[in-house]
Amino acid sequence: MIEILDVPVQGFCKGVSKAIETAQKTLHSDCPKPVTVLGSLVHNAYVNQSLGKQGLQVLEAKGKSRLKLLDEIDAGTVIFTAHGVCDQVRAKAEAKGLNIVDASCPFVLATQKLINRKRADGASILYIGKKGHPEAEGAVYGHEGIYLIETIDDLPENLTGPIFVTNQTTMSILDLEALFDQIKERYPQAEFCSEICNATRVRQKAILDLAGQNIDCLIVVGDPQSNNTNRLAQIGQAAGIQTIMQVESASQLDLDALKGTHKVAVTSGASTPAYLKDQVIERLNTLNDQAAAGFLS
Ligand code: SF4
Repeated sequence: MIEILDVPVQGFCKGVSKAIETAQKTLHSDCPKPVTVLGSLVHNAYVNQSLGKQGLQVLEAKGKSRLKLLDEIDAGTVIFTAHGVCDQVRAKAEAKGLNIVDASCPFVLATQKLINRKRADGASILYIGKKGHPEAEGAVYGHEGIYLIETIDDLPENLTGPIFVTNQTTMSILDLEALFDQIKERYPQAEFCSEICNATRVRQKAILDLAGQNIDCLIVVGDPQSNNTNRLAQIGQAAGIQTIMQVESASQLDLDALKGTHKVAVTSGASTPAYLKDQVIERLNTLNDQAAAGFLS
């Protein structure tokens, strides 16, 4: 029998819930049509497919910035995703005469405001984030004096004057601490402000709390595009869990790989619908039912 631990905190975070509600309201309003979302509304294929069935058009092209993607929308309503956009995207959408609906997460907007304030005070900004991620693009794009730091190798040499260090909201709390320490060594005068959002922090802390609980396998339910989901898997490794399985849904579970496993923990990203995690737990329970019925050893 497998002991199944349902790691607390599941379902959508506030930012994702708000973005989905905003998209649904917009689709059912009398706003100019078509309604096109600039990139994936949230990083979950199931959510995006369901909104697609309700008429939402999703404009996504790997490697293309939001600014470039906007060239492909000439009419109707554009929705900005939970990840936020840079000022140039807003200005371009306005100049094109599009009806704008902003579903940016308030926490992302708060980080952008903080950066703007510090830039106005004359600080160089070191923004710790993921290259190619829309939230990082929204925060750093087109601004002089903002540096996107993914690893310590990206740290610029010989900055002078005030320096402000902050980050993408969905980074790993462990990576961020380590990078802050490394940056402090080179730039002791820098001011630091962690902007990891609460939804990301509590999910990661819940995984770190699993250390020492003899968990054989951590199952992380979420979309591979979702940064906060991917970070949960990474934190699981840091917590010393031997096997990490990342799945989008119950159908991807490799039950054979779980044979002989005693204790499994299940968690999910902030953009994963709660029902997908519940279905994973249900499927694990069927494994236990089969074992109880003597089909499995
Ligand atoms: S993970 Fe955090 S920053 Fe991202 S949408 Fe959710 S609450 Fe907002």
